[in-house]
Amino acid sequence: MSTLFTKIINGEIPGTIVYEDDHVVAFKDIVPFAPVHIIIVTRSEISGIAALPETGDHIYLLNAAKKIAEQQGVTNGYRLVINQGEDGGQTVEHLHVHLLGGRPLAWPPG
Ligand code: 5GP
Repeated sequence: MSTLFTKIINGEIPGTIVYEDDHVVAFKDIVPFAPVHIIIVTRSEISGIAALPETGDHIYLLNAAKKIAEQQGVTNGYRLVINQGEDGGQTVEHLHVHLLGGRPLAWPPG
């Protein structure tokens, strides 16, 4: 069965895609925590950091994040977040990076 994010990638459920290449797809988060809140997801269904293979689509996530940050115009800075597991706040078991920006972000997170 496909993950929620694979369904967005395949157009089976709606999503506002802002970037895609052979390895990753990025779309707007449905509940944005910042003026810019983009989900960058691997095309392959890696469940999370704890299941990371040695190589694969995930190695392209950071370079995609850099390009998307430039595209989104968050020139004053931004944050990349990966939640892993229940205590990490992961709700969708398909590896993804949150790109947050467009306002000052508090540190440390809760
Ligand atoms: P996680 O909690 O796993 O790190 O992040 C999952 C993210 O996916 C959440 O920020 C949540 O708002 C977002 N999300 C959940 N369902 C949907 C959806 O149907 N469409 C979009 N665009 N984002 C979603």
